[in-house]
Amino acid sequence: MKVTNVHKVPEPLMTLAKREYYSKGAAQYSVTEIMSPPKVRRLREKHDEDIVQDVSEMLWSLLGSALHVVMERGETEGWTKEERLFAAVDGVTISGAIDLQEETPEGIVIIDYKLTSAWAVMQEKGEWAQQLNIYKWLVETVKGKKVVGLKICAFVRDFSRHDRKEGYPAAPIAMIDVPLWSSEKTEAYIRERLEMHREAKMRADFGEDLQACSDEERWMSETTFAVKRDGRKTAIRVLKNLEEATQMAEKEKGYVETRHGEPRRCTGNYCGVSQWCKQYQDELYAKEGSLVGVAQEQPAGLDAV
Ligand code: SF4
Repeated sequence: MKVTNVHKVPEPLMTLAKREYYSKGAAQYSVTEIMSPPKVRRLREKHDEDIVQDVSEMLWSLLGSALHVVMERGETEGWTKEERLFAAVDGVTISGAIDLQEETPEGIVIIDYKLTSAWAVMQEKGEWAQQLNIYKWLVETVKGKKVVGLKICAFVRDFSRHDRKEGYPAAPIAMIDVPLWSSEKTEAYIRERLEMHREAKMRADFGEDLQACSDEERWMSETTFAVKRDGRKTAIRVLKNLEEATQMAEKEKGYVETRHGEPRRCTGNYCGVSQWCKQYQDELYAKEGSLVGVAQEQPAGLDAV
């Protein structure tokens, strides 16, 4: 990936932006790589040289890295910081760097720092459960210690004291409990992901189309139904159920506007490869009637597993 400096920010920021903060050590997959969509991983490898990001757009990732660096300094008895663990699954080595582990009389509590938005805190984040449960599996497998709790320590970057929405975080730092999975469930999840990555590599090597990203992987938002009335700018109500929306529209002498869910990872290009993704470009073409980017997604000549 090339990092540019369009807005002429100080050079030390460029140095920091180019630095690799996370290493997977000798592992073939880091936990984040296991979880990432196989298509994204392959396309990022293929287009590594073509991906361009300006340093000014990297504010949150820089601050996220800064947060981890600062947190590493908080030496406290009974707490283990930034421990990287390795384990093999069917001959494939995986590794995960765990932000914090608290030793309690009952067992270990794993905590992961996230610099995130209030919106993210309010959503049910399947990815957080997947990540932390792989950490749990690593701790139990490698250290042989029981894990009794999983928590996200969320630093809410856009916190507002005036927001009273249901589920809105009560403070700028929010602790979120993550459900614990059994070892069997986590192992099955890891095997399933590794198999998907193996298949993606095989498809790439044979020049076949990559597997589609799932709705979950694309961060698909929910389709909602807005009850509206002519002459009124805002919706009377926005509902998740079409039947309820239709009934309300009849009562209010209005109409229903369908607001289709959006694949936010694609539309915001959070995967970084949307312009080379056939799945997304085909959708845009069907919707807008024009091909926005290059839609050749078979990566070639990859040597990583
Ligand atoms: S654009 Fe969407 S579908 Fe394509 S690789 Fe990115 S996340 Fe997956």
